[in-house]
Amino acid sequence: MIEQGWNFDNSYTRLPESMFSTLDPNPVRSPKLIIFNNSLAEYLGLNGNGLRSEEGVAVLSGNEIPEGSLPLAQAYAGHQFGGFTMLGDGRAMLIGEQVTPAGERVDIQLKGSGRTPYSRGGDGRAALGPMLREYIISEAMHALGIPSTRSLAVLTTGESIIRETELPGAILTRVAASHIRVGTFQYIANFGTEEDLRELADYTLKRHFPDIKEDENRYLSLLQEVIKRQASLIAKWQLVGFIHGVMNTDNMTISGEKIDYGPCAFMDTYDPETVFSSIDIKGRYAYGNQPYMAGWNLARFAESLLPLLHDDEEQALELAQDAISDFSMLYHRHWLAGMREKLGIFNEEKQDESLIEYLLSMMKKYRADYTNTFRALTFDKLEDTVFFGTEEFEQWYKLWQERLDRQEESRDSSQQLMRNSNPAVIPRNHRVEEALEAAEKQGDYSVMEQLLDVLSNPYAHSPDQADYSKPPEPSTQPYQTYCGT
Ligand code: AMP
Ligand code: MG
Repeated sequence: MIEQGWNFDNSYTRLPESMFSTLDPNPVRSPKLIIFNNSLAEYLGLNGNGLRSEEGVAVLSGNEIPEGSLPLAQAYAGHQFGGFTMLGDGRAMLIGEQVTPAGERVDIQLKGSGRTPYSRGGDGRAALGPMLREYIISEAMHALGIPSTRSLAVLTTGESIIRETELPGAILTRVAASHIRVGTFQYIANFGTEEDLRELADYTLKRHFPDIKEDENRYLSLLQEVIKRQASLIAKWQLVGFIHGVMNTDNMTISGEKIDYGPCAFMDTYDPETVFSSIDIKGRYAYGNQPYMAGWNLARFAESLLPLLHDDEEQALELAQDAISDFSMLYHRHWLAGMREKLGIFNEEKQDESLIEYLLSMMKKYRADYTNTFRALTFDKLEDTVFFGTEEFEQWYKLWQERLDRQEESRDSSQQLMRNSNPAVIPRNHRVEEALEAAEKQGDYSVMEQLLDVLSNPYAHSPDQADYSKPPEPSTQPYQTYCGT
């Protein structure tokens, strides 16, 4: 047997028992590895050869429990589209925390691994298409420089699952800084004791915020730090045109990583009202609403922490409100800094924001492609589109050029900044669909592998990326994505 390199700890099992349920393996018929992330494995101190072997695939399918692993499903609750519900890992199991050669601790979770005590009516399984979709988009996010859960492997189970039709079952190995969510705190705050809540908060501090000192109001610091991380994260989504699709509080991590790749998608045409998720009828999680919804979710996090913030209820509330009210300012600061970079601007001028808003309002009016507009500006290749041909754009362009002339940095450094801030490629919906269709219908994974390769270096602006940067052909059918698939 080839060594697989697991170096597990199971610190989560030392938390109050109500926070998780231990699990037995839930074997699948004939697991087959579809895709494996060699560079991630190496980073985690895992042995690719060992994990790709029959014994390794048995572990990644949940058929074998490796030494040191204590499989469990985590309990959590959450506000789903505004309504509070009890949830939990209904189709995932944490097989352990891998302690990496660099001393980092990451969760290794199998998603689609079978029923758990939190499955409710679900079958605990996942289909191949959505698991590959998570693999592609989460790895693309990482390559874009956006903190995200990662994907180590996808395998098929050899079993069919029933959705609208019969589909091949699959399991994704998800790697996360942790799976502690806003919803984990909501669960404990609602169904646990104050002591449980304190244990979870202390655990989270130790795991994700070791720099917070014991002698400060460390629970308030926890709230403030989570707010900071989320403000930075959401700004990064906005800057690349990413739409989460289902920003329920159970899908917001405390670590600041993006989690849950169900109905997410990247926007082609710029429009703040863009929604792809089939169930988001009212546009709660539309592109332009994401910063507000993040603030809303963080207010739910703050509520969960209230008993720890201060002995006096009113003072606790005041501390929470002050912290929450910083979110929009922090978010806006990150967004504005990122937008300046996208336009090659190094220093700050008061009018920068109106310059940016002016551009965005024209992009909306002329239905410009979000990614390609910034790419075209980066290389000063103003293709012959309706938008670039307008007088409005010409006026804006003049203002922008004057703005660049007012800074000390050379045009070359400005362009370099723009190259590093404006991706050449994003996982465009039609490209992702094309890759999934080839995989699902023909068992051809080469389309996906090529797409992953192109997406792995989004700021390269290399010739082989040109084809992948084209927007989709105009379609009468709006693109739709689905949850819980
Ligand atoms: P999500 O939409 O992925 O955030 O999932 C919301 C909740 O539904 C979580 O508690 C999931 O574990 C659960 N869930 C989603 N799909 C299934 C399934 N096929 N079987 C059991 N639980 C599921
Ligand atoms: Mg989820």
